[in-house]
Amino acid sequence: MSTNSTSEPRELVETPDLNGAYPRLDEAGIAALAPLGRRRRVQPEEVLFREGDRECEFFVVLAGKVASVEGYGTAEESVISVHGRGRFLGELSLLTGEGSYYTAVAAEEGEVLAVPVGRLRELVACDPGIGDLILRAYLIRRSILIGLGAGLRIIGSRYSPDARRVRDFAARNRLPYRWLDLDGDPGAEALLARFGVAPQDTPIVILHGRMLRNPGNAELAAAAGLPAPTASPARCDLLVVGSGPGGMSAAVYGASEGLRTMVLECTATGGQAGTSSRIENYLGFPSGISGAELAERAMLQARKFGAEFVVPAEAMSIEEDGGQYLVRLADGSPVTATSVVIATGARYRRLDVPRLDHFEKMSVYYAASQAEALLCAGDPVAVVGGGNSAGQAAVFLSRHAAQVTLIAREHDLSEYMSRYLIDQLERIPNVRIMLGTEVRELLGDDTLEAVAVADGRTGGRSVLPARALFVFIGVRPCSGWLGGLVDLDARGFVRTGQDTGGSALETSRPGIFAVGDVRSGSAKRVATAVGEGAMAIRLAFERTRPG
Ligand SMILES: Cc1cc2nc3c(=O)[nH]c(=O)nc-3n(C[C@H](O)[C@H](O)[C@H](O)COP(=O)(O)OP(=O)(O)OC[C@H]3O[C@@H](n4cnc5c(N)ncnc54)[C@H](O)[C@@H]3O)c2cc1C
Repeated sequence: MSTNSTSEPRELVETPDLNGAYPRLDEAGIAALAPLGRRRRVQPEEVLFREGDRECEFFVVLAGKVASVEGYGTAEESVISVHGRGRFLGELSLLTGEGSYYTAVAAEEGEVLAVPVGRLRELVACDPGIGDLILRAYLIRRSILIGLGAGLRIIGSRYSPDARRVRDFAARNRLPYRWLDLDGDPGAEALLARFGVAPQDTPIVILHGRMLRNPGNAELAAAAGLPAPTASPARCDLLVVGSGPGGMSAAVYGASEGLRTMVLECTATGGQAGTSSRIENYLGFPSGISGAELAERAMLQARKFGAEFVVPAEAMSIEEDGGQYLVRLADGSPVTATSVVIATGARYRRLDVPRLDHFEKMSVYYAASQAEALLCAGDPVAVVGGGNSAGQAAVFLSRHAAQVTLIAREHDLSEYMSRYLIDQLERIPNVRIMLGTEVRELLGDDTLEAVAVADGRTGGRSVLPARALFVFIGVRPCSGWLGGLVDLDARGFVRTGQDTGGSALETSRPGIFAVGDVRSGSAKRVATAVGEGAMAIRLAFERTRPG
């Protein structure tokens, strides 16, 4: 194995523990794991698991060193991290069933403890000490991989809508990837030549040495190992549609109560909350928690209790069928359920400005997570919106962008934004706040260069440099797929409770519940969506298991 910088082999130095990514198990931790696995000697260059392997064993290094290597044995081989005694290998994919994003190879003679992944899952579920240490390390390691751009290679033109779709899907599902832009990255053409692909046949994705030509989201999900649909037709007690905080909560409580629970998600687990860089007002997390971490933890928790996730799976219609409900997915497959929880949330509206379609291909975003931040590092950016999500995005982006301009129609941010966020924004030197202002034009040729804004009172126009535009203005509910089966309010949100004459959270149809942002009158908060998800299960349980 060679290192990044030189082809000369040299001794590998153990990677320091970065923010808890690479903790060391103490002797008691190793002793707790020892009965679950078997010890074995390893030789230099011995491969413990390979890039693309699924359901690998969980390894603890007992002696010697083991390296995590991307592109092992290729010209692009690159050492990600090196681990000595007491360190454990792997990352989140070991628990989620995705293929590994790197190869683990012994750097010297030594010894490892190999634990079957099923035993590891049991341990994570029942030993809070070790379980939390491993889970936390795995979540941080995933963030490191995303930051390094390890994993998938996505190659395409910055002007291609499909390339943008593939990148968005990878980012929302927290699949680590590197974007190679045909129009700006010299490495892109060389890689295309190696795979014998013409530029007009992009985008392509390279994953675990395999090439996918312009994959659909379902194909990419299957290749990466995201949870896929089981053989249809599917039947369950509880069908949860949407996997934001409301849906996740319903899934955790439903499955833990013993209901056969299935979750359909059209884009990525976590919903809007999954795109949030830091949720600071969720009970029990005094220093905040990233939406991605909350989503990963919730999904592992729901799966631990037996909930089945299907991603991507879009519910397209729902109808009553002999006392049950039949939901049809985009691919036509049916799912039948006794109770349904509608947790499809809401999406941000698009700005009503000319040329939005043109710039949406690469410069306009409706989420501000690590993936978007990497794409606009060092650039001036603009954030539109006066609510908490816009404020949070501006705070987060200020750590990556050169300058952030927050553009809000409101004359006073406290109308829709929490005080703690306003205070934070006012203290950040590279954040500029423009109140009472509206975006009128997007300027640039192929990519966004500036936005023209107008003062709502005077009409005065000014132009602000912006290479990326983040939009967080008013939401619209994702309720179109319900097709009139349940009552909606005038804005399309689902009516529940007293509105419909049913019990709280029940829609106008018995056995169909609505929780979170899609519900008429909801508070549009993570905590309320979670609370409602749990409450709906109590009602669904009564219906599913009468008496
Ligand atoms: C950037 C940002 C920051 C935020 N920060 C905070 C914060 O700090 N604190 C706070 O309390 N709130 C915050 N919020 C608001 C909070 O995230 C939402 O209130 C919460 O996520 C709502 O949860 P939900 O489960 O109702 O819906 P959502 O989170 O909207 O999830 C709905 C899910 O359903 C899926 N879906 C939609 N239609 C279908 C279909 N037909 N079939 C299958 N799946 C479907 C969607 O893809 C999505 O994943 C923030 C929101 C954003 C965008």
